[in-house]
Amino acid sequence: MADTVVWGLIGASTIAREWMVDSIRKHPSGKVKAIVSSDLDRAKAFANDKSIAASYASVESMLADPEITAVYISTTNDRHLPDALAAIEAGKHVLCEKPLALEIADAHKIVDAARNKGVVLATNHHLRNMESHRAIKSLIDQGAIGKVNSIRVFHAGELPDSLKTWRLHDKAAGGGVIYDITVHNGDLLRFYLDANPIRIAAIAATSGAGPRRIEDSVMSVWEFPGDILVQCHDSFVVGYGPRGIEIHGNQGSILGIDVMSQAPGGRVILRTKDGDREIPLELKVTYDRGVADFIAAIQNRGKPPSSSGDDGVWSLKLAKAVAESAATGRTISIEHT
Ligand code: NDP
Repeated sequence: MADTVVWGLIGASTIAREWMVDSIRKHPSGKVKAIVSSDLDRAKAFANDKSIAASYASVESMLADPEITAVYISTTNDRHLPDALAAIEAGKHVLCEKPLALEIADAHKIVDAARNKGVVLATNHHLRNMESHRAIKSLIDQGAIGKVNSIRVFHAGELPDSLKTWRLHDKAAGGGVIYDITVHNGDLLRFYLDANPIRIAAIAATSGAGPRRIEDSVMSVWEFPGDILVQCHDSFVVGYGPRGIEIHGNQGSILGIDVMSQAPGGRVILRTKDGDREIPLELKVTYDRGVADFIAAIQNRGKPPSSSGDDGVWSLKLAKAVAESAATGRTISIEHT
């Protein structure tokens, strides 16, 4: 196929295994050719499980394959920066996991490198691609609840045992709930409101079994322009709470029930003076849309990826504001530069 996009995967990760390889392969132009892991046996086992032709133990050797034109990066958060810069330097388009980096200056470096090299860079923020969140955004934009005045985000779940690794124990790898979960809230709220917040205050805690300096729960309050207040509860230690979102306006509310997850599903209800109306949702895999938009951007179909490199800088900036507020007890003003 002339317009095939041949992918290399950087990271023998759970998300690549459970979602991304399948989403890439479902696309008519998507072909997965290679995987790289820091451990060759892990790369080989992954390649074997997923029927991938080539496995590597070094990023550079995989990037040397000229047939590979795009990479998906899902290594631990600290490795996104060197992996993305290496891939961009090799002229590959990059779909990178969130957070783009651990420092804002480093995320800017990735965005600048991609721009200078002329390759597409996208951040894999999945919530804005979910049918439920797209339905909510559409209701907000239609004015179905009037002027939005507040949002409550319930993004608190429990990590499966297989993921109770670096997220809970390794700060240097980018562990902690803020860089894992809060960063997604930042992207989703910007998507809903087409605006960036003005200030954020937060308190974090280690309520589970991880080291005390790595937060597994955080509550934060955000102010957006137009006197919109947002409250977020993000956690790794809430086993049975519904993961949802409420958007409140002066003429109604939108309830997103069980919509803060990776799998399609959940419910969206519009509540107004006329009562409750359930919005029908198609059950589509959210990552399929992100991959399709990324491939369309590579093929110059005139559409940017659904969450760009700049969006990735912004969501990191907001996560870092939450982290800074939690660490210092101060309310953090957000610079809009
Ligand atoms: P994993 O812990 O499954 O994988 C991360 C890395 O850990 C892998 O790249 C691998 O490194 C290493 N690793 C994997 N298995 C083992 C093992 N058995 N022993 C030692 N090391 C191992 O992470 P996730 O898949 O959960 O997350 C990866 C990235 O994706 C993160 O940046 C995360 O933030 C992001 N993510 C994004 C989501 C989204 O919806 N956008 C959802 C989930 C995660 P190596 O490749 O070197 O072998």
